[in-house]
Amino acid sequence: MKYSIPEKRELTKSERELLVYLCTKEKPEWLSLLSNLKVIARCGCGKCPTILFGKTLDAEIQKENLIIDYVGKSEGNRLIGISVFGTDEMPTELEFYSIDELRETIVMPKIETLYPARENFK
Ligand SMILES: [Zn+2]
Repeated sequence: MKYSIPEKRELTKSERELLVYLCTKEKPEWLSLLSNLKVIARCGCGKCPTILFGKTLDAEIQKENLIIDYVGKSEGNRLIGISVFGTDEMPTELEFYSIDELRETIVMPKIETLYPARENFK
C-alpha cells in the first residue's frame, strides 16, 4: 500500500466474515481477537477496499508481515488477491488487489470463491 487515510470504525459484516474465514483456515490463534478489532485506516488509492486494523480506534499503524495469501473472484469473474498482514500478535491489514491488473475499482470477492494463492503454482 502506498499510503493510507484515517478511517475509524467497526468492521463491516462482510469484512469480519472474510477475516473469520481466512483465520479459521490459516491462523486460528487470531480468531479470538477478531471481535475486538477496529478499522483505523484504509488504502489511499480510493479504488480498493483495503483496510488497516488496530486494537483500539486510536491505535497506531503497525509494521507488518504477510501472513495469509489468498485469491478469490468478484463480480464478473475478476481475479482478486487477498493478503492478510500482521504482527506476531494480531492482524494489521486486509489488502485486496487486482491480479488481472485492471484499473477499475476492486470489489471484495465472495467467500465461496477463495482459495490459497499458492495453488496458482501447482
Ligand atoms: Zn488501494
